Amino acid sequence: MTAHDVIVVGAGLAGLACARTLRARGLRPVVLETERQVGGRATSEEVDGFVVERGFQVLNPAYPHLRATGVLEQLGMNAFPRAVRVRHDGRLDELVDPTRHPTALPRDLRTGLVGPRDVAAARFVTSLVGADRRRGDAFDAAGFTGPLRHKVVDPFLAGVVCEDEGSTSARFTAWLASMFLLGTPGLPTGGMRRLGEALAGGLDVRLGHPVTAVDTDAGRVETPHGSFTGRAVVLAAGPVSSAELARQGRPSTHPTTTWWFATHQAPSPSGAIHADAERRGPIVTTAVVSHTAPDHAPAGQHLVAALTLADGEVDEQAVRAHASHIYGTETEAWRTLAVHHIPHSLPAVAPGQFARGRIGFQGEAVLCGDQFGNASVDGALGSGQAAAAEVARRLGGR
Ligand SMILES: Cc1cc2nc3c(=O)[nH]c(=O)nc-3n(C[C@H](O)[C@H](O)[C@H](O)COP(=O)(O)OP(=O)(O)OC[C@H]3O[C@@H](n4cnc5c(N)ncnc54)[C@H](O)[C@@H]3O)c2cc1C
Repeated sequence: MTAHDVIVVGAGLAGLACARTLRARGLRPVVLETERQVGGRATSEEVDGFVVERGFQVLNPAYPHLRATGVLEQLGMNAFPRAVRVRHDGRLDELVDPTRHPTALPRDLRTGLVGPRDVAAARFVTSLVGADRRRGDAFDAAGFTGPLRHKVVDPFLAGVVCEDEGSTSARFTAWLASMFLLGTPGLPTGGMRRLGEALAGGLDVRLGHPVTAVDTDAGRVETPHGSFTGRAVVLAAGPVSSAELARQGRPSTHPTTTWWFATHQAPSPSGAIHADAERRGPIVTTAVVSHTAPDHAPAGQHLVAALTLADGEVDEQAVRAHASHIYGTETEAWRTLAVHHIPHSLPAVAPGQFARGRIGFQGEAVLCGDQFGNASVDGALGSGQAAAAEVARRLGGR
């Protein structure tokens, strides 16, 4: 049996952020992780010389808790274009962000993707003053009902919050929108796994250590490699495993399935997110990721991601046909590199649940992760940092 100040269960972003913060406060944490790598859901793999994220994901450098970690500068960020390309009415149009490129506005207006009723998008912000509600209801109430809403914003948001029913908290949606306004999402050179690796630097992380039981009051956890005891236990094992270990109810989550294709011919000259306003197939958003992160594909090849919200079996032909429709190009020659079905991709954030830096409790144990009201990288990091502050307060750290 080995004694530590704090046992952190899970080396995802929440657990790593927690352990880093504990260490900075003069405490000695050990992080126990089931997998053979750190990073949890924010990870990547190598397939035939391609860097393939585990599910289509992006990193927003404006996230405040990410900035607080101090690792952003190590990541070599590659920024996506501040534009979306939308298939609609038989055309593929690009809408460029006028907040950064004001001269693009006349061209944006000519696409037909922005109508008079879309001016009400601004009223969405004022609608947040009262009680929180579903994002779809808040848009309706604000009168934001033009083509920008239905053809651009709704498909784009579906890919961000992993649901297309409009059920996510309007306040959480507004916070995400503010992050998109402040920062340009991108990908680290080498993939999302680099974030977890950077956070883990210098920490005592035990890979291949699944925690099978937790005695929260005794500060003891069991693994196949023996027991670990600490003056405190933090459960950062993701929404489902943390709930199981704490014997609490499982939070509601959204699934995703992402397809990764290799091709010699890029289907678009742009790395922008592409979407289908008419939703004629399973793809929610797709992009030529290697335009944004050239290191993600070998020279002369391209990497295409196609995100669906499918839970389980998706017909590959339907995905290829839809990609063909969106890009307006053949997809038969594309080579399938990987298919990532992730049943619990993102916790649902229902109206009233949005929170920043929130944690949970079970007996003497502290719980943290993206399931506490902010389903994002920033939510996981912020919750992990808050868990460390709570533990340090109890143990008398700095
Ligand atoms: C496909 C996809 C796309 C995403 N896109 C974005 C995006 O674009 N932007 C964004 O901000 N966020 C995105 N996210 C969300 C983001 O990745 C998560 O919010 C964040 O990584 C959650 O971190 P976490 O530490 O809370 O949980 P997790 O990442 O789930 O970490 C939990 C860790 O605990 C380990 N573990 C589980 N059980 C045990 C056990 N019994 N013993 C020991 N270890 C255990 C797991 O292996 C894992 O490493 C995306 C997620 C997915 C899946």
